[in-house]
Amino acid sequence: MKRAVVVVLDGLRRDLLSAEATPGLARFSASAAFFAEHRSVFPSATRCVSASFATGCFPARHGLQGNSVALMEDGRLAVHDVGKPDFVDHWRAVRGRTLAVPTLAERLAGAGRRAMVFSNVSPGAARAHDPDGHGWVFHRACSFAPGPRRLEGEEAIADITLDTEGDTRLTSRFISQAVRGDAALSLLWLGEPDHAQHEAPLGSPAARAAIAGADACFSRVLEAVEQRRRLGEDILLIACSDHGHQTVTEVVDIDAALASAGLEEGVAVASNGTSALVYLHPDHAARADAILAFLRAQSWAGEVVAGEELGRIGQAPVDALLCAVSMRGDALPNEYGVPGRSAAVGPAQGKADRLGCGQHGGLNPFEQMPFLLIQGEGFTPGREMRVPSCVVDLAPTILRHLGLHHAGCDGRSLQNQE
Ligand SMILES: [Zn+2]
Repeated sequence: MKRAVVVVLDGLRRDLLSAEATPGLARFSASAAFFAEHRSVFPSATRCVSASFATGCFPARHGLQGNSVALMEDGRLAVHDVGKPDFVDHWRAVRGRTLAVPTLAERLAGAGRRAMVFSNVSPGAARAHDPDGHGWVFHRACSFAPGPRRLEGEEAIADITLDTEGDTRLTSRFISQAVRGDAALSLLWLGEPDHAQHEAPLGSPAARAAIAGADACFSRVLEAVEQRRRLGEDILLIACSDHGHQTVTEVVDIDAALASAGLEEGVAVASNGTSALVYLHPDHAARADAILAFLRAQSWAGEVVAGEELGRIGQAPVDALLCAVSMRGDALPNEYGVPGRSAAVGPAQGKADRLGCGQHGGLNPFEQMPFLLIQGEGFTPGREMRVPSCVVDLAPTILRHLGLHHAGCDGRSLQNQE
């Protein structure tokens, strides 16, 4: 039986992999292909990446523009946190649908197979994999069986915490229910090291401990996969992250900056960590150029991408999206010698941005540096791949391994690349 198993170590930067820091992944890399040019999407933020992973498409196609987004409701722009458990329900009510293109879960269900997603990040990110309930989604805040049918009690996983201990317990459930079951796609999305890196400096003892914990979870999955292979299963095994991290040097309130210039009316700013999505109500379209000129003149703004140029970063000028701002960064090291710093956008909804700790969301080099290792048919063991790859290539790669077509994806399958 052909199957795919994916383990995501959220927020683990490619340059932080080593024999000392990640011994499990280091051993695995001897028998897997390593994609040295792998990239995230924009925003390089978990909920948006989850939708891009699930669909094989950029946000311009699947429609989930960021980790926080503005929706036009009753003629006004309202900013929403996509991480909340009920965001997709609200999104469906406002838009009449959720994601605009099919997910892996939907494609597999159509072929009579199943996806099982175990996620320990935000509930909204977990639901972005399968918002319409085609497969199984397990999350500490809400779990669903196909239908969707909401799971309660023993069937759900309410006892999981967002830390290494919780990741370890979730890994046990993942191995027993998904890897040792018959799911065509088994996806484990760990909460670490992302969670620790947001609360402690990159390279600090707490951040390094979280990386070691996530690496140990992966090693347990690898062992379980090898057991299944010995039983004759043909398993594609992917270990990856969704984005990297930058050290926060400054927290900027873009709403306040626009207000100080008298440009706030009709504008909605959705903070996405080290980036922002800036929306403009159509009634105020005449001020678009003034707003763009103001943003481009700010010292904290890196790239300001607007209009049709949004296509270059996988976005589109639709649903009142005026521009994307990737905050200015540099390659200087933090106190632990980890390079890559950036300004961040605040106040983020419900999330404190700590100066000196990690953040992501933009286009800077170290946040656009997730890792990717793939082991299985079509991948040369130990080979370092220089071909460009992106999060959107994973769904086509998984579908191809499972013998299913991947028409309609923005990405391409990565098997048999030079
Ligand atoms: Zn993430």
